[in-house]
Amino acid sequence: MMLYIHIPFCVRKCAYCDFVSYAGQEERISAYVNALIAEMDRRPSDALVTSVFLGGGTPSLLPQGELTRLLTAVRAHYRLTKNCEITSEANPGTVTQGWLDAAAEGGVNRLSVGVQAVQPELLRAIGRIHDFEQARETFAMARRAGIRNLSADLMYALPGQTVGMWEQSLQAVMSLSPWHLSCYALTVAEGTPFGTLDAQGLLPRPDEEEEMAMQAATSRILSVHGLYQYEVSNYAKPGCACRHNVGYWTRKDYIGLGCAAASLEGDVRRGNVTGLEAYISGAPYATEERLTAPDAAFEELMLGLRMVQGVELSETALKLFSKGLEKQRKRGLLTVRERRVRLTARGFDVMNAVLAELMP
Ligand code: SF4
Repeated sequence: MMLYIHIPFCVRKCAYCDFVSYAGQEERISAYVNALIAEMDRRPSDALVTSVFLGGGTPSLLPQGELTRLLTAVRAHYRLTKNCEITSEANPGTVTQGWLDAAAEGGVNRLSVGVQAVQPELLRAIGRIHDFEQARETFAMARRAGIRNLSADLMYALPGQTVGMWEQSLQAVMSLSPWHLSCYALTVAEGTPFGTLDAQGLLPRPDEEEEMAMQAATSRILSVHGLYQYEVSNYAKPGCACRHNVGYWTRKDYIGLGCAAASLEGDVRRGNVTGLEAYISGAPYATEERLTAPDAAFEELMLGLRMVQGVELSETALKLFSKGLEKQRKRGLLTVRERRVRLTARGFDVMNAVLAELMP
């Protein structure tokens, strides 16, 4: 079982962001941590927890005392495995040595740093609150705190970004020697400042050809540094894949704590309320659905095929999709060996089309 904890506070909203996070609400943090602990009280579990992930929002906005209180409560409520992977996201604009020391003291052994880009003008244009030097300093401070398993997030296909700028970002991040890198293409979401600009035709984004060149540059540059793609957007040194995310893609159970957090327990998916005040006042789940066997099987396939090594399908999924899988296999888009199904390099390029055809 895995545990996700959502920390929905940010200094200010980035121009592309449609995550559930609130700016300027720092005075609510203490009440929010109380509500998280109350949710742990309501949702006990005997299952062994193999990974914990503090995501957001900006977990590094939690004051040190609140972070310690939260991590202590996690240990008091759940049984963590000895080598449990405990990740926290961190924003280079908010993190301090004291915070990282408290995080390491509380058991955090993996840090995911939101670097996003290296050019100051690009960071400003997307609304980030930090520069690349602060990202470099975050890596140094994390290592001083004893956290060695470090990951960075980068974004591509940003407005005004050229292939050369993307290559420069990759090289600069590689100079920090991360063990793991997540590279996300910008998705423009309605209701965000970028969504509004895009609707008016005012967001100059790289075209499809440039985006493909950026993707090609990613594998080429990262492999020189010993990082290999293991999922659509994720690269790692051998043995350093994010266990928590691999857990999502292999449909392990997870409890999500906090506003807007999702949970999967067996075939029951639940979603917590999104509003900060509603969550703090103890509102119950906002959504709850029992997945049908075909829905669960399709999820298994859809999530598993995101990984380069593919997925070992359950008998149910294998039976359900056997005709469709055979058709795609004959086209050279995937391979099937016993129960393991994986996309070929060609299949990976057209993953969405393959999945659309396999959909029940
Ligand atoms: S820091 Fe992350 S969660 Fe916060 S606004 Fe920016 S992208 Fe969204």
